Amino acid sequence: MHDLANPTEAHLMLREMVREWVQEHVEPQAHEHDRLERFNLDLMRSMGELGLLGLTVDEAYGGANLDAVAVCIVHEELSASDPGFALAYLAHALLFVNNLAFNGDDAQKERILPKVCSGEWIGAMAMSEPDAGTDVLGLSTNAVKQADGTWLLNGRKMWITNGVLDEEGTPADVVWVYARTGEDERGRVQMSTFLVEAGMPGYSVGQKIMDKTGMRASNTAELVFQDCVVPAANLVGDEGGSLLHMMGNLEIERLALAAMSLGIGRRALEEMNQYATDRTAFGSSIRDFGQIQRHIGESWAKYRAMRAYIYDTASNLVLGQAGQRLDSDGVKLYATTAAKEIADAAMQVMGGYGYVAEYHVERLWRDAKLLEIGGGTLESHQKNITRDLAKMHDAILR
Ligand SMILES: Cc1cc2nc3c(=O)[nH]c(=O)nc-3n(C[C@H](O)[C@H](O)[C@H](O)COP(=O)(O)OP(=O)(O)OC[C@H]3O[C@@H](n4cnc5c(N)ncnc54)[C@H](O)[C@@H]3O)c2cc1C
Repeated sequence: MHDLANPTEAHLMLREMVREWVQEHVEPQAHEHDRLERFNLDLMRSMGELGLLGLTVDEAYGGANLDAVAVCIVHEELSASDPGFALAYLAHALLFVNNLAFNGDDAQKERILPKVCSGEWIGAMAMSEPDAGTDVLGLSTNAVKQADGTWLLNGRKMWITNGVLDEEGTPADVVWVYARTGEDERGRVQMSTFLVEAGMPGYSVGQKIMDKTGMRASNTAELVFQDCVVPAANLVGDEGGSLLHMMGNLEIERLALAAMSLGIGRRALEEMNQYATDRTAFGSSIRDFGQIQRHIGESWAKYRAMRAYIYDTASNLVLGQAGQRLDSDGVKLYATTAAKEIADAAMQVMGGYGYVAEYHVERLWRDAKLLEIGGGTLESHQKNITRDLAKMHDAILR
């Protein structure tokens, strides 16, 4: 049925195709990969054949040329089954591929996009550092231009999804790296973007980060750049020009993280609703109890509210542009906490069964928490929204 979340026949078909594929290929492996803290690299590569790795990329480079609504559909469907795998997908398809598609030059796009759209290469994005997260301009990784035009990159990046691809410590095939390249005349940090490729001397994995609360089916790594020589051709955009494309890409990233929350909320609701019918206590179905009704009723309303806000934002978001963050921050602020609360309600409704892996919601509950931190903390969204509304009072009256 066409609605806000499936506005055209193409969107509806995409959702059906992805949902079917997820049921067949993602669902059966989700629990095991969470338990073993393993990323399913082969499964990710196979998404290239479906055209999903270059969702927002021009067809000329091997992409599917789809919009922000399509991005939400794919992230919602993946996350309803395996949020950890969905996070690894997001790091590749949006943090790397979408960024390159909208901000790379022709030579970079011609050389790299076909490889990342097919799944031959897996990409990552490295912004965060051990001592700088929300405070992006506090980064210390730096790049210095050499006499021959190459750049010498030094520093460490932390929490990088897809930074390591397997248990042998193989680094991501290509990483979108933000580094300090100087200061402007007013003393402000200048940040530039570099494409670092596997095999470049001085690029390595520091460690695979283990024992995460959730999102354990995605690999998270510390990356090390030690006198890493980056060719001049691998500078993205202008020297010192990162901020604009960083902000533009954060908007679609935050919307997609909200769509992942929607997938979590939907699945948790599905599980608690079924369980409340099946389970009896004191001679009646537990869905007859008022306190259970509160969990289900409130979860339904939150789920419907997040769905409407996410797809409304998606239908207005123009890919590749900055300046739309009021609602990309807004949806992530609302949906991530809503997903966590719905997963929590599901666990409560399901009692002891909700607390064990076989019934899925304990994994969703653990995975949901990351969404309140990664890609911008709740506090950073609150700050951005409040700042923007100071200048955009009209947005309230629209
Ligand atoms: C599993 C996982 C995957 C990740 N993947 C990636 C990735 O692929 N690439 C990447 O670059 N990063 C990645 N990250 C990093 C993530 O984006 C950061 O953790 C996040 O931005 C927060 O940064 P931080 O952890 O340094 O916390 P900090 O920024 O140090 O924040 C600590 C606390 O202080 C608060 N705070 C900070 N500044 C303010 C302020 N001005 N006002 C009010 N409160 C404030 C924060 O909201 C938070 O509550 C990942 C993280 C995790 C855990």
